[in-house]
Amino acid sequence: MKEPQETKVEQKNPPLKKEPQEEKDHLPLGGFTFSYYFIFKVIIVLAWHYLLDTLGLHTADFKFYSFVLAHSLLKIIQFNYLKSSLDKKLYVHSLASDVILCYMLTTYGLWIGPIFGLVPLIQSISITIMEYTRYKFFEDTTKVDYVVHISEKISDYTLQPMVALNFALIGYSTTAFHPPRAVHFLGYLLMFLVMDIFFGTTHIISHKNHWLWKKHLIHHKYKREDLDTFANFYAELLDGALMNLAVIILPGIVTLYFHLPPFFMCDLLMSALYTHHKYPDKQAHALWFWEWDVIDIILGRSRISTFHRHHHNFPNEHWSAFGIISNDKVFEKIYEVLQKTMGV
Ligand SMILES: [Zn+2]
Ligand SMILES: [Zn+2]
Repeated sequence: MKEPQETKVEQKNPPLKKEPQEEKDHLPLGGFTFSYYFIFKVIIVLAWHYLLDTLGLHTADFKFYSFVLAHSLLKIIQFNYLKSSLDKKLYVHSLASDVILCYMLTTYGLWIGPIFGLVPLIQSISITIMEYTRYKFFEDTTKVDYVVHISEKISDYTLQPMVALNFALIGYSTTAFHPPRAVHFLGYLLMFLVMDIFFGTTHIISHKNHWLWKKHLIHHKYKREDLDTFANFYAELLDGALMNLAVIILPGIVTLYFHLPPFFMCDLLMSALYTHHKYPDKQAHALWFWEWDVIDIILGRSRISTFHRHHHNFPNEHWSAFGIISNDKVFEKIYEVLQKTMGV
């Protein structure tokens, strides 16, 4: 099979310095399934939202303003107590990025019907603009590259339209555009869990099966230090379809089956987009049930969107997307069974 030709945009050659490897990979995992920490987080977030339900505060307005307040305060610590002028500028940029994306989520009432398909496009474009402006205005661009791999095969650009089409179908098929209740958090978790299991399963098969690996290899052109939002949508057609199945279609089925608010899918997609973001560690990874993410930040745990980054430098590890199932042996066992029964 002819490999697509690659070019790199804005890459200085040779790069003088790569981004330092983030220490975040070495932090205790934030999502290990069924660990005490995972159960602790579920109990805290659930109890908090039952309290909001009781007080009548589980509304879009309250979620938005509490998000803004929490992140305004938290980012002061994240940006070194705003000691330098650069920290102050980064604080404003980072907060503005999160607030715009969160505000978009709380306008879910506008996206009823097939128009819901526009949301992933707007989310992707917004995140890319914010990431690139962060790079362009606050980074030493002579030392750090912003890499965009270009393919001449049009089929390598189909993931974004696939995602948008599925969002449009979900928007068309549901009437559940309403503020969620505390109990919906369990459905939200189920969506993330389903996504993690199926992403991990299809992912390990894509590495072990020789035919699929040749396709998945295209996405792996992005190494860890090169990751940016463009990497999210750089995949061969079938590889992209498998990702779409795990990240969008199956969580979409969970959404429709349990009548979950469809804008939960925006939270899931945004967390997925941040897995390939250039600066994920000081951005909010969850917008509606943002408390989930904030607990990880406060307690110094690795975040849901930082798990997959490690895989881009160590491709035989970290099979799942968010590390909700972080034990690789689970997927190795699943693969073993599938190989024996279906010969994958
Ligand atoms: Zn990836
Ligand atoms: Zn991979």
